[in-house]
Amino acid sequence: AEMFGQLTGGLEAAWSKLRGVDVLTKENIAEPMRDIRRALLEADVSLPVVRRFVQSVSDQAVGVDLIKGVKPDQQLVKIVHDELVGLMGGDVSDLVFAKTGPTVILLAGLQGVGKTTVCAKLAFYLKKLGKSCMLVAGDVYRPAAIDQLKILGEQVGVPVYAPGSELKPAQIAKQGLEEAKKTMTDVVIVDTAGRLQIDKGMMDELKETKKVLNPTEVLLVVDAMTGQEAAALVTTFNLEIGITGAILTKLDGDSRGGAALSIKEVSGKPIKLVGRGERMEDLEPFYPDRMAGRILG
Ligand code: GDP
Repeated sequence: AEMFGQLTGGLEAAWSKLRGVDVLTKENIAEPMRDIRRALLEADVSLPVVRRFVQSVSDQAVGVDLIKGVKPDQQLVKIVHDELVGLMGGDVSDLVFAKTGPTVILLAGLQGVGKTTVCAKLAFYLKKLGKSCMLVAGDVYRPAAIDQLKILGEQVGVPVYAPGSELKPAQIAKQGLEEAKKTMTDVVIVDTAGRLQIDKGMMDELKETKKVLNPTEVLLVVDAMTGQEAAALVTTFNLEIGITGAILTKLDGDSRGGAALSIKEVSGKPIKLVGRGERMEDLEPFYPDRMAGRILG
């Protein structure tokens, strides 16, 4: 597997030590478990998550009844696979749509994580599901972001509500929502200002925008390259403004896997979608089982 290659290789070291053994014991899994622990830490998975993971896997491995025909090393692979799936939330976490009126998706995130790109990618994705969309340009501090959103909106054939940078983000959001109701749009995607770091001004603005929108989804866009820091961000944003999930971007880059593996466990919030490239079609639902499969190679 090209993605998370280092993690895949590190885990393989664990199984390779169990070739030829007849049964998994506390003794013979000790070293493979250290390999697993090391591989996860090197992938930048958060330490408490690694500890729980390793404990759970060893408990299961030693108690396991041998399934006929399945070799012990393959049994450990299976246990790790299932544990990885659970760690990432188990089932796919679908986007929620409003029962009546427009579905409102509020997007938040730090600067440079790919938020503006995600707005357009999400509209493109939802259009394919047969939903009409509108983008709302609420990133008032970066005129370039508004222009970028207009260009991307045009590219994917979705209207962009952009009254400029004079109004406050919450006002823009409110007007955008009214416009969407008037035009019977199914989904309104609201872009917000990203900052280089979390600050009070950003959080206050997001809270205010959330209040006027009463959004169906509040999704934090995080960059996979930031590893377990992404999980910390999801936790902070959730505590501060209340979010419904995360969108993990740049999974096509050489991220090590820590973000994908830590976010749900650390923050309690699922990853709903992942970005794997700069093209508009590079956004897809996050499938924990497929991800686990890719990690295991
Ligand atoms: P924003 O500041 O959060 O709005 O970030 P942008 O949407 O402007 O994206 C920042 C840069 O990251 C741009 O060059 C995007 O093309 C790039 N980008 C966004 N998402 C992805 C992704 O999933 N993969 C890759 N490789 N690049 C991405």
